[in-house]
Amino acid sequence: MATKKEEIKEAAVKAAKKVATKVAKKAVEVAEAALDAAAEVTTKVQTAAAEAVKEATTPIITPEMAKIPAGPLELKWTNYKNHQKLVNPANKRRLDVIVVGTGLAGASAAASLAEMGFNVLNFCIQDSPRRAHSIAAQGGINAAKNYQNDGDSVYRLYYDTIKGGDYRAREANVYRLAEVSNNIIDQCVAQGVPFAREYGGLLDNRSFGGAQVSRTFYAKGQTGQQLLLGAYSALSRQIGKGKVKMYTRYEMLDIVLIPDENGEKRARGIIARNLVTGRIERFFAHAVVVGSGGYGNTFFLSTNAMASNGSAAMQMYRHGALFANPCYAQIHPTCIPKHGDFQSKLTLMSESLRNDGRIWVPKKLEDAKRLQAGEIKGRDIPEEDRDYYLERRYPAFGNLVPRDVASRAAKERCDKGYGVNNTGLAVFLDFSDAIQRLGKDVVAQKYGNLFQMYEKIVDENPYENPMMIFPAIHYTMGGIWVDYELQTTVKGLFCIGEANFSDHGANRLGASALMQGLADGYFVLPYTIQNYLSDQIGVPRMSTDLPEFAEAEKTVQDKIDRLMAIKGNRSVDSIHKELGLIMWDFVGMGRTAEGLKEGIKKIDAIKKEFWTNVYIPGEANSLNNELEKALRLADFIEIGRLMAVDALHREESCGGHFREEYQTPEGEALRQDDKFAYVGCWKYMGEDKEPQLIKEPLDYEFTERKTRNYKN
Ligand SMILES: Cc1cc2nc3c(=O)[nH]c(=O)nc-3n(C[C@H](O)[C@H](O)[C@H](O)COP(=O)(O)OP(=O)(O)OC[C@H]3O[C@@H](n4cnc5c(N)ncnc54)[C@H](O)[C@@H]3O)c2cc1C
Repeated sequence: MATKKEEIKEAAVKAAKKVATKVAKKAVEVAEAALDAAAEVTTKVQTAAAEAVKEATTPIITPEMAKIPAGPLELKWTNYKNHQKLVNPANKRRLDVIVVGTGLAGASAAASLAEMGFNVLNFCIQDSPRRAHSIAAQGGINAAKNYQNDGDSVYRLYYDTIKGGDYRAREANVYRLAEVSNNIIDQCVAQGVPFAREYGGLLDNRSFGGAQVSRTFYAKGQTGQQLLLGAYSALSRQIGKGKVKMYTRYEMLDIVLIPDENGEKRARGIIARNLVTGRIERFFAHAVVVGSGGYGNTFFLSTNAMASNGSAAMQMYRHGALFANPCYAQIHPTCIPKHGDFQSKLTLMSESLRNDGRIWVPKKLEDAKRLQAGEIKGRDIPEEDRDYYLERRYPAFGNLVPRDVASRAAKERCDKGYGVNNTGLAVFLDFSDAIQRLGKDVVAQKYGNLFQMYEKIVDENPYENPMMIFPAIHYTMGGIWVDYELQTTVKGLFCIGEANFSDHGANRLGASALMQGLADGYFVLPYTIQNYLSDQIGVPRMSTDLPEFAEAEKTVQDKIDRLMAIKGNRSVDSIHKELGLIMWDFVGMGRTAEGLKEGIKKIDAIKKEFWTNVYIPGEANSLNNELEKALRLADFIEIGRLMAVDALHREESCGGHFREEYQTPEGEALRQDDKFAYVGCWKYMGEDKEPQLIKEPLDYEFTERKTRNYKN
């Protein structure tokens, strides 16, 4: 029997063991936690270090490289013009310039360059230069004339444009754009463009989103058409004089670069396909200017013309021109909603309608459900049950908030179930107030052709029942990077109009694309291209038999042969439609990191499907619309991916680029100025290789960056 002493000893040992076990356990726990913490710190340090290395090794484009002139903002363009190099008249005759595109940018550039004395070769896909997509522009063109005496000025147009673009545009370019805006109006009036006039005969103006003044010049709902007819007249004059050689129904399929005596590659021509005969042809010039429009049709359904494409941009990109801000695409809030699966195009209702139309959805979910079921019409909902959500959320700008804000607000209402058509994806644009206030005749005078177009498409009278609208892809602010001279990173290759990365930043205010296209073509390029061409006067015309031309033609022919040989099971459109859905779902109005990563995988799969299973009927060496579409789709797939890659890297919301992870508690876009105040440029690194990011910092000297506020 154990003695009391032994019992105590045993109990003490047990207790000591228990304590020791506990202590040991705790020690292990503490050690493990310490290890975890250390690992976490290490990972964080490693990530930060990797990011720092990435940051430090990301190439930068400096203002000098972008050729931004020094000096005060308002003197930069004047100083540039005073000091640039010129080409004398005799030498101009010895120089050839290729202009691809006959939209407002291309036609105005071709006409102006020819008028100056250069020999111009002008190309377009359509059967007439007048059929370029620019003809579709409805609403108007901005200029800082201040005819309304409502306080407008060059500075205000500059400021509204910079702010509207969410402070992601170059100050110097935007100021120049505002400065030349007034010259554009004078030029067009001199050409006979029939801008709308007030009763007294002066030019009339209306308001567009993002501005508190009326500065938009217009020609009913056909402003683009009238402006294009003006540019076309100027172009026709030069065609008649033999200074422009016009190539309609020709599609550029590649750019030809030839090294100079120092080995630097310069754009010296293009390879184009005659769309009627299918023949591949070669063309030489001392410089190439591309005004090929935007790439909104990547989404299949967009407001763009059917032939609008991004192929010319991709050809430039593959030759070393940088693609800037590809993810910046504009969603327009007032389009006629999609109505079925067999639709190939979306129709825009001009933003000018927001001057007098009021946007609303029902306040009550049950009313929305009855509208969706077709049991009631918009006019049946009493005033007190209508939610004029833009006027409610943004009292200062109301229905005239910028497009990105209006589009997101419509999506927000529809996502919550308040949509008003059978798909639940539409809101009302209502003119009943305007009709009461102004009378039906005045409304018809202002917007008659738009109302008629709506009625033809929707089969409903918008004077009696509110129109239905929904956001759709409309314009691409991203595009080929150009310096202040509109020259790409490839010498002798210039890019103008919607095809370049433009002066609009992350969002384009309405009526500013026509302004930019015509500014580029009539007033900027004719100066800046001389700075380049003045060094080329000694360069003789080159033979298109040079090996560089032959090689480029072979690359084009091989691509066509490869496509024709696939003989798969899917039409071009069916694959394009699938791409469009992916773009809309994953790279559309609301983007997330997770969604974008998935989108990229899906686009890669589409690429594989396209290159193994597309079917192109007919022959390559004759008229073949399916082949044309296939060549463009091959590039849309690449652009779609580039858009997703860019959207993924830009961890902020700005303008048309909305990353759902970056929003304010009220759902507004949240920029990260400390990290992303730069132009994101992408460099082609080879087929199926990830592109390299290059940044052009936007260090503002003259403008204070503010949170965009349209509330008060
Ligand atoms: C429905 C609609 C309404 C609009 N309304 C307005 C408005 O009211 N105000 C405003 O400011 N903006 C508006 N916009 C935007 C504006 O119309 C365009 O941004 C602008 O017209 C583009 O002009 P562009 O000259 O750059 O290109 P486009 O007009 O698109 O011209 C491109 C030209 O390039 C040619 N081309 C393309 N690729 C090739 C190739 N590979 N080879 C040969 N030729 C080629 C085409 O044939 C065409 O001639 C609107 C846009 C749409 C879709």
